[in-house]
Amino acid sequence: MAKHVVIAGGGTAGITVAASLARQVKNSEVDITVIEPSADHYYQPAFTLVGAGTYSLEETRRDVRKLIPPKVNWMRDSVAGFDAENNTLKVGSGATVGYDYLVVCPGLELNWEKIQGAGEALGQNGVSSNYSPAHAEYTWEGIKNLKPGAKALFTQAPLPFKCPGAPQKIAYLAADHLQNKGILKDCELHFLTHAPGMFSVPLFAAELKDVAARYGIHVHFQHNLVAVDGQQKNATFEVAGGDQKGKSVTMDFDILHMTPPQSPPEVIKTSALANEGGFVDLNQNTMQHTRFANVFGLGDAGSTPNSKTAAAVRKQAPIVVKNLLTLINGGELDTGYDGYASCPLTTAYGKVIMAEFCYGGKVTPTFPLDPRKERWSYWWIKTTGLPVFYWNYMLKGYEWFLKHDTDFVEPA
Ligand SMILES: Cc1cc2nc3c(=O)[nH]c(=O)nc-3n(C[C@H](O)[C@H](O)[C@H](O)COP(=O)(O)OP(=O)(O)OC[C@H]3O[C@@H](n4cnc5c(N)ncnc54)[C@H](O)[C@@H]3O)c2cc1C
Repeated sequence: MAKHVVIAGGGTAGITVAASLARQVKNSEVDITVIEPSADHYYQPAFTLVGAGTYSLEETRRDVRKLIPPKVNWMRDSVAGFDAENNTLKVGSGATVGYDYLVVCPGLELNWEKIQGAGEALGQNGVSSNYSPAHAEYTWEGIKNLKPGAKALFTQAPLPFKCPGAPQKIAYLAADHLQNKGILKDCELHFLTHAPGMFSVPLFAAELKDVAARYGIHVHFQHNLVAVDGQQKNATFEVAGGDQKGKSVTMDFDILHMTPPQSPPEVIKTSALANEGGFVDLNQNTMQHTRFANVFGLGDAGSTPNSKTAAAVRKQAPIVVKNLLTLINGGELDTGYDGYASCPLTTAYGKVIMAEFCYGGKVTPTFPLDPRKERWSYWWIKTTGLPVFYWNYMLKGYEWFLKHDTDFVEPA
C-alpha cells in the first residue's frame, strides 16, 4: 500500500518538498498531501523590493492551486493540532488526518500584538512594514514622498525574524533614494535594532556598519520597539541592554518601517513536536525530528540554528526528501545540511552584498569573489536570477544548485 506523506504548511518549504518528492516517487508508492490554508503564495524575498518601489506586490504573488504539483493533494485547511504519538493530526474543519510520514513547515507568525498600537497604526500616517504583504507597497508610498527635513525610523525586532538583513536593507534603499533625489543630507534616518550589532556574522557586520555610516544613518543598538502612536507619529523603544537598560525612549517620525516580533504558530508551540522555544525540534543536520522518527521539519518554524531564509529552505528541502525516502526504503540518513543561509543585502539600488554563511557564522560564498564587496551582479541575481530560479526550479522540485565553498578562508 502507498505510504501517506503529509506536509503541514504549503509555503516555500512545503511546496518545494512536495514538488521534489513528487518528482522522485511513483503514485503507487507514496501519496502526498499538502495542508495549506492560503490561496495565495508570495515570494517574500521580493517584499524588500516592493517596499523600495522596484517590484509590484502582484509580481510576488501566485495562486497556490497552480503551484501544487498535479500528483499532490491540496487540503485547503489549517492544522489545528498534532498527535504525533498516534501519527495523526486534526485540521480546522474537525477532520482527523492520518499519516505514515509528516513534514512540518508552517513558517513564522507575525506577532503585531507585541507592539502596542502597531496593528491599528499600520497602513496610515507613514507606518508600514515589508513583512506584511498588505503594507509593503505603503512603505514605498512613504519613502517616495519624503521631503527635506523628514525623519524616518527603521526597526529590527528581537530574534527570531525572517531574513536577517530585511529590517536594514530597506533603510539603505530609502537612503539611496533620498541621495539620488539630492535630499539625503536634509533628512534624518535612524535604524533601531534590538540586537547588539549590525549582523550576526562579523565579516558582514563590519561592511554594514560602513554602509550605514556612508549614508549618515543613525544606528541605535539594543532598542526594541514596544509602542506606536500613528496619530501622534511617535514610536517608543525600550532599551534592551547596556547602561541604559530598561529606559524608555520615544521618537517622532514622518515614516516608520516596523519589523514585527515573530514566533512559530501556536499549534506548534503547544504540541509535543516543539522544543523549549516552541520550534519544531529537529536534528540540525538530518532535519529529522529529535523524538518522532517519522517526522521531519524545515523552514522558519524549525529549531535548526540557521538564519530563517528561503535560501536555507533551498538547501534543507533536498535533505528532507532524501532522508524521508531513506526511511521508506532503508539506509543511512544524510547528515548534510550545514546551516547554509544566504541574505542578499541591498545596500543601494543596483548594489548587493551577498551574505552567505553556515552554522556558527562561517562565511561560505558560492562564487569565487570577495564576499564583502557590493556588486551589481549580485543585484541582478537578487532581482532577476533568484525569482526565476524560485518559481521555475525550486518550487518545481528541481534540485540544481551551485555548491557553496565550505573551505573559504575569510580575508583578514
Ligand atoms: C520582508 C522579507 C524579506 C525576506 N527576504 C529574504 C531574502 O532576501 N532571501 C531569502 O532567502 N529569504 C528571505 N525571506 C525569508 C523567506 O521568505 C522565508 O524564510 C521562507 O519563506 C520560509 O519558508 P517557510 O515555508 O518556512 O515559511 P512560509 O513560506 O512563510 O510558509 C509557511 C506556510 O505555512 C502555512 N501555515 C501556517 N500555519 C499553518 C497551519 N496551522 N496549518 C497549515 N499551514 C499553515 C502558511 O499559510 C504559509 O503558507 C524574507 C522574508 C520577508 C518577510
